[in-house]
Amino acid sequence: MTPASERPAITRETLRQLAFDQSIRWTSQNDDLWQLIDNDLWQLTRNPSMVLSTVPEQKLQALLQRAECHRLVEGIVEAQQARLERPTWFASQGHGDRSYSEQLARVAYFSMEYMLSEALPIYSGGLGNVAGDQLKAANDLGVPITAVGMLWQHGYFRQSIGPDGRQQALYPVNDTRQMPIEPLLDTSGTALRFAIQLPGVQIWLRGWQARVGRHRLLLLDTNDPANPPIARLITSELYGGDNEMRLRQELVLGIGGWRLLEAAGLQADVLHLNDGHAAFAVLERARSYMARERVSFDVALHATRAGNLFTTHTPVEAGFDRFPPELLSKYLERYAEYELGIPLQSLLAMGRKHVHDPHEPFNMAYLATRGAGAVNAVSQLHGRTSRYIFRELYPRWPLESVPIGHVTNGIHLPTWVSPDAEAHWYELHGDEIPWRGTDQASVDDLLAQVDDRWLWQIRQHARGELLSFVRSHLARSLAVHGASPAEIEFAGSRLHPQRLTLGFARRFAAYKRPNLLLQDPERLARLLTHRDYPVQLLVAGKAHPADRAGQALLSEWQQFAARPDIAGHVVFLEDYDMRIARHMVQGVDVWLNTPRRPWEASGTSGMKVLANGGLNLSQLDGWWAEAYAADLGWAVGDGLEHEPEHDAADAEQLYRLLEEQVVPCFYQRDQQDIPTAWVKRMRRSMSALVERFSADRTVREYTERYYLPLSGRYRQRCADGSALASEMSRRITSLRSYWHELAFEQLEWRREGDAQHIEARLHLGRIEPERIAVQLFAESQGAEPATAHTLQLQHHEGSYATYRTELRTQRPEADYTARVVPSPALGLAVPLELPLILWQR
Ligand SMILES: *Cc1c(COP(=O)(O)O)cnc(C)c1O
Repeated sequence: MTPASERPAITRETLRQLAFDQSIRWTSQNDDLWQLIDNDLWQLTRNPSMVLSTVPEQKLQALLQRAECHRLVEGIVEAQQARLERPTWFASQGHGDRSYSEQLARVAYFSMEYMLSEALPIYSGGLGNVAGDQLKAANDLGVPITAVGMLWQHGYFRQSIGPDGRQQALYPVNDTRQMPIEPLLDTSGTALRFAIQLPGVQIWLRGWQARVGRHRLLLLDTNDPANPPIARLITSELYGGDNEMRLRQELVLGIGGWRLLEAAGLQADVLHLNDGHAAFAVLERARSYMARERVSFDVALHATRAGNLFTTHTPVEAGFDRFPPELLSKYLERYAEYELGIPLQSLLAMGRKHVHDPHEPFNMAYLATRGAGAVNAVSQLHGRTSRYIFRELYPRWPLESVPIGHVTNGIHLPTWVSPDAEAHWYELHGDEIPWRGTDQASVDDLLAQVDDRWLWQIRQHARGELLSFVRSHLARSLAVHGASPAEIEFAGSRLHPQRLTLGFARRFAAYKRPNLLLQDPERLARLLTHRDYPVQLLVAGKAHPADRAGQALLSEWQQFAARPDIAGHVVFLEDYDMRIARHMVQGVDVWLNTPRRPWEASGTSGMKVLANGGLNLSQLDGWWAEAYAADLGWAVGDGLEHEPEHDAADAEQLYRLLEEQVVPCFYQRDQQDIPTAWVKRMRRSMSALVERFSADRTVREYTERYYLPLSGRYRQRCADGSALASEMSRRITSLRSYWHELAFEQLEWRREGDAQHIEARLHLGRIEPERIAVQLFAESQGAEPATAHTLQLQHHEGSYATYRTELRTQRPEADYTARVVPSPALGLAVPLELPLILWQR
């Protein structure tokens, strides 16, 4: 410990640094500082920047003189210092020039939204949650990520629900002076400001930054007085405005975002696109490479795409952003021709399934795929769904070869675990964030050390905390809508801390089926108000202002919650956000989720209850389809996809599970009033799932399976004046031009003992024999995986060649089909980068 005399003085700047750091969690264990400065404001906003920006200088100076305040600040500063100095996972992996840090200098992570804290409301939901949690985990692990996003002046809309039960969308302004952001400075110390060209006008962009430990989130906004009003509104509303506005936003994020990164002096090996919104960054990265290395766009794209990763989040084609060709032409014709040096039609083709169809809209996910060195989905099931919806980009390739892998999402445990539960684990484990980086053995080890009573007490306490939050939230909402003190008092008093408490919160969109529980309102009412085994249900969620159907579903819940007979058994919490989510996932006993399979790509909210001892009852979709086991939660659905007519069957199953399993299990107590069967499930759920569905695991997986290999390939392709990228570009052009000349002349099978000898004779035309791979392909069948067995070049003469191989297999000859694909030599990703294929029949 540094002696007091040598420690730097504590000033407003010290507090500002703390307020800015989004990696610090302000929980009941360390928020005394902000309480001391302005408790009311702190409780209302949970925003340290806000508290700091409003405290009068005199009051702050007086506080800073107090020993108590000094001690608090020092404690926080030291804890943060210790976190930053702790050796990280990334820094300790590999060694010498094969160390991870040697292989990967920086990942640029692009996302339309980020959910980091309530102090920075620039998020809507799931996508922002994934981005925010991954950024925090990358900071914990030391994986070098710089994030890029948008500073939304109004964020996502705020929800108010009037006495009529209808949702009202409100757009309060985010005041930059009271957010944990600061202007981004260029190398000369001036606030970064630069222009990009949209048709007819220059648009000025301004750079900001937020801090997450040692990592940064760079943000852009267009609210610059030099811009015409329409341009100032580009960064106004997240997911607001029409299609053209969306295009402008995506141009700013993709093209502006990449320029911002470079203007801040940052180079990246890997570009990670969190969904397709930022896909224009692929073009801008190539453009910048072109200009720097003096190569053509084609060579630049082949060099840079090796370092691009596209994560798709959409399970249905309708979910992709698409723009009419005329709109794209208006915005990108000049950019294509003057900056990229390619015809507009070539650019448009990158966003099309059928590259020659001039009417097909431009699809951002296709652009992202055609500009990526790897593509992944966000759960195992979503991987399968995605291979299906992207299949037409790889015509005639087998479905299982569509080049989309998966990394299942995870959540940042320290963000979502309750301070109380964490403190309990801390006592046992002696580390600040006990779940993080723990291997399976140590989670089990911790669980083995505690008895049922210990676990159940955490649960009881958490439920109590949640209910007191719900009461105060409810009181405030009711007061705003004009309820009397008596009504407010009554509403809060009906909730009961010993009741089984269910939580259901998500976007109100038809595919999420938020009303599945309401299919039989009377049955639900009976379940909730059971005399001996009552249940209470907390509901929250917004419906997009343009989604009428979603708003109707929301009204249904309002009407149900307003029924006098179920008063106190259902509470709708208006304005679902990170704060409400945190309280709910920490306190509920069971988290419900009932999407229509396979529409939930992953889902993350159910993962947030795990470390808090909550259990999941969920449709077998997204992450739950791979997490579920009978002893750790409950599942709705039969693991198959169905039409909406099947909803009634799912609802029936949901009611029965609740009535026959969940409720009895919760209320079945031993002599000490502990539900032992329930606690057993809690143990299984924590042991099997907490670590596996953490963002730590996700980010380690992204690093090892994608970032490191992509960085390696990118560096190879750039080396020696882009030698490899140029060679690839030539080969790809030539294969594309002459592929139609390829033909199978003959294929012979000859059996000798238990071996098959196969010889293929091909007409090559102008294609060189080494440029292709001739394979025998067999589809997967039962337990047998699909195989592609490559033949060796035997003889080549003129435009003909023979290839030969020997095959030992139990499978019949009829299972195999011969095919020709581009040779993966040179590190070309096939079929991602070149989806050519020729089948023998
Ligand atoms: C976790 C979270 C989400 C994402 O939840 P899903 O499981 O994808 O529905 C959305 N909004 C908030 C506020 C969250 O905390």
